[in-house]
Amino acid sequence: MALDFSFSREHEAWRSHVRNFALRELQPHSRRWDEEGSLPREAIRKMADAGILGVIGKPELGGSGRDYVSLGITIEELAAADVSCALIAWQQATHTHFFPGWGDDTVRAVYSGNCVVALATSEENAGSDLSAIEVTAVEDGGYYLINGTKIHVSTVPGADILAVSAKIVIAENVKPKMVLLRVPTNLPGVTTSVMEQMGARAHMLGEVHFDNVRVPVNATLGGAGDGKAIMYARFNVSRCLSPLAALGAAGAVLRETIDFSKKRIVYGRAIATNQSISFPLVEHHAKIEAGRLLAYRALVANDLGEDATADAAMAKWFGISTGVSVIQDCLQMFGANGYLRDNGIEQRLRDVYSFLFTGGTLNIMKLILVRQLLGAEYAGLRT
Ligand SMILES: Cc1cc2nc3c(=O)[nH]c(=O)nc-3n(C[C@H](O)[C@H](O)[C@H](O)COP(=O)(O)OP(=O)(O)OC[C@H]3O[C@@H](n4cnc5c(N)ncnc54)[C@H](O)[C@@H]3O)c2cc1C
Repeated sequence: MALDFSFSREHEAWRSHVRNFALRELQPHSRRWDEEGSLPREAIRKMADAGILGVIGKPELGGSGRDYVSLGITIEELAAADVSCALIAWQQATHTHFFPGWGDDTVRAVYSGNCVVALATSEENAGSDLSAIEVTAVEDGGYYLINGTKIHVSTVPGADILAVSAKIVIAENVKPKMVLLRVPTNLPGVTTSVMEQMGARAHMLGEVHFDNVRVPVNATLGGAGDGKAIMYARFNVSRCLSPLAALGAAGAVLRETIDFSKKRIVYGRAIATNQSISFPLVEHHAKIEAGRLLAYRALVANDLGEDATADAAMAKWFGISTGVSVIQDCLQMFGANGYLRDNGIEQRLRDVYSFLFTGGTLNIMKLILVRQLLGAEYAGLRT
């Protein structure tokens, strides 16, 4: 069978739905949300109404049961209008989809924009190395008692329910299992605070402290010991979404820059007539297209149920480094106007910097590729 690089008619129709929605309902407010730096509930409700939060969700729970490619299209188009909303949307879609055990009512509430869920796994000494977590869950009757602190958690403060990774301490000398626990943020003993970030400010980043927080043993997302595996399954999709977000934002900036370069007259001619301007513009276009192909190829592999670990890592490293460098270069082509807040490019540059870290850094993506290309003994990652 021939290789087919085209989107289906349904994909194209969905893209134009999301694009029109995002340009109309999100983009005009993007600057205000950045300045306010708090979770934009109005945007979350509007995204729910537009069918965006349940894009890959089960129809019986209010989702539309589309494929991962449709989710990629969604995130690319949202990010072209507002990066924070793209981050929020992909987290809601993937947390509900990949972590079993939220409960049908919670999932329905997320798809209708009435509940926000988040993943709290990073800690002071456990960022790239997920296995190094120190938050504990100790069984006490039919409950777990959770203690410790999570940091860098997206949509906190604001999120209603967290998936919290914790070590189940069974006994001394017994290797602890990792579990993901469903923890409402209004439980006694849970406190949250904001961590001020440079970009994607409306998506929020925060710290969560657990002081003897009691949750029932059956508040487990997946089985005890499954925590890492279900987080990794989600990574294979989410690591295709962050590059599409970076490339979506970069594509929008590139289109604005091409327009500007044809209008800006310096030395009596449009700056676009200088090849030192036009050549990088077309190179950026080609790199964005290459990055999109890598990301969508990895999403197709996910849709087919194939192992997309390496493809997703490659897509993430290439797409995000491309997105960041395109926006950086375009900002300079605008001259001093690019540097001004009113222009909007500086916000997009700050926003896409978030993708250098969320879901694993670009170095970690390279280590995943080293493991595949050179062998696990050269990567030094825990299995
Ligand atoms: C915007 C944003 C959103 C986030 N959202 C969440 C969230 O929702 N939930 C959550 O739990 N966490 C979240 N995080 C945290 C994110 O997952 C971590 O920041 C990331 O995994 C990296 O961990 P770290 O920052 O602790 O860096 P570290 O692991 O301390 O690494 C520091 C540096 O060393 C490099 N490095 C480490 N080991 C190696 C190695 N072996 N070889 C080469 N280089 C190496 C890294 O690439 C990095 O540059 C978010 C972070 C950001 C910025």
